[in-house]
Amino acid sequence: MINNSNPLMNTYSYLPVNLVKGNKCKLYDNNNKEYIDFTSGIGVNSLGYNHTAWIEAVKVSASTLHHISNLFLNENTLKLANKLTSLSKMDKVFFSNSGAEANEGAIKLARKYSFDKYGFDRNKILTLKQSFHGRTLATLKATGQDKFHNYFFPFPDGFDYVEANNIDNFKSKLTNNVCAILMESIQGEGGVFPLDNIFVQEVVEICNKKDILVIFDEVQCGIGRTGKLFGFNHFNINPDIITFAKGIGGGLPIGGFLCNKKLSTVLNPGDHGTTYGGNPVACSAALVVLDTICNDEIYREISKKGELIKKSLEALNSPVIKEIRGHGLMIGIETTLESSLIQREALSKGLLTLTAGKNVIRLLPPLIIDYEDLSKGIEILSNSINKLSKN
Ligand code: PLP
Repeated sequence: MINNSNPLMNTYSYLPVNLVKGNKCKLYDNNNKEYIDFTSGIGVNSLGYNHTAWIEAVKVSASTLHHISNLFLNENTLKLANKLTSLSKMDKVFFSNSGAEANEGAIKLARKYSFDKYGFDRNKILTLKQSFHGRTLATLKATGQDKFHNYFFPFPDGFDYVEANNIDNFKSKLTNNVCAILMESIQGEGGVFPLDNIFVQEVVEICNKKDILVIFDEVQCGIGRTGKLFGFNHFNINPDIITFAKGIGGGLPIGGFLCNKKLSTVLNPGDHGTTYGGNPVACSAALVVLDTICNDEIYREISKKGELIKKSLEALNSPVIKEIRGHGLMIGIETTLESSLIQREALSKGLLTLTAGKNVIRLLPPLIIDYEDLSKGIEILSNSINKLSKN
């Protein structure tokens, strides 16, 4: 199955394993070999695999009314909107299908707010260096990494990049045409770098004074992943716009953006839309995820499990581990080794992990992982690092 002679576009380097089924936090290959999953399908499967309530909700919704488009309002979409706005204390939500599309929508909302109030020229969005915001043309340009700004010219204008956690650099970028700043509270793809509390506090204070909108991209670190509803909840601030995707659907494609009251009347019929957004099946799946994950008891467990991973890896005292970063079940381990070597070694021993750049192993286990699977996974990862550090 895994070779280059298939008709799929050559955009992915598939890992050498043929996964055929999953249960809870384990996956199985075509030889029935078991793997502990520390990837969640890149931060998506918050409830793991074969989750009874999630499957039931999807089945019921698929067999009742699976899609009607946004020509009509349906109950599941409305229920999810109510639940999300009440959990986040935001005013309105727009549903999309992916993280990139969520960020595109947020960029449009910010620019329209600024256009309505200040006219044509105030449209620049600041983002952070080392960020990742998606693969559409605008979100590639929003992504603060040069390697994503090749080949596909011309990219949309109106973005500039700030060094994360450098307040002077942020201030130096505050020209009169800035309308918003977009940032991840923990940069995921860029290497699992959490933002500093002081930096975020100062940025938000300055932005609030200047009516510059604060947008948090919570696509990877939101919906319980870091042990709070959103990653920015680790700072005592309120953004204007929040984008989300990945973990909220638990495996079905759904994303979107939330906004506060100030922005709630900016977008009107015809300004924005998408055929599948708020699809009843995806919304019913997301409702189960929110009902299961979004409470203080589960958040506490997520934080505890994250601490267990960190402490266990620190206790290795490995000479190749440079730093362990992150919150809750979003953890990056920077080593002196190539991350793909560790990933492949762990894979061969029955653990699935992610990388985030050349030297960072990224862990995003399902949020409902139990201590037995967690400990097994930690043991395999520790053995893999120890083995490779002796080479
Ligand atoms: N924003 C962040 C922070 C992400 O991590 C990602 C994907 O990894 C995206 C946006 C893009 O999401 P999607 O792949 O669903 O378009």
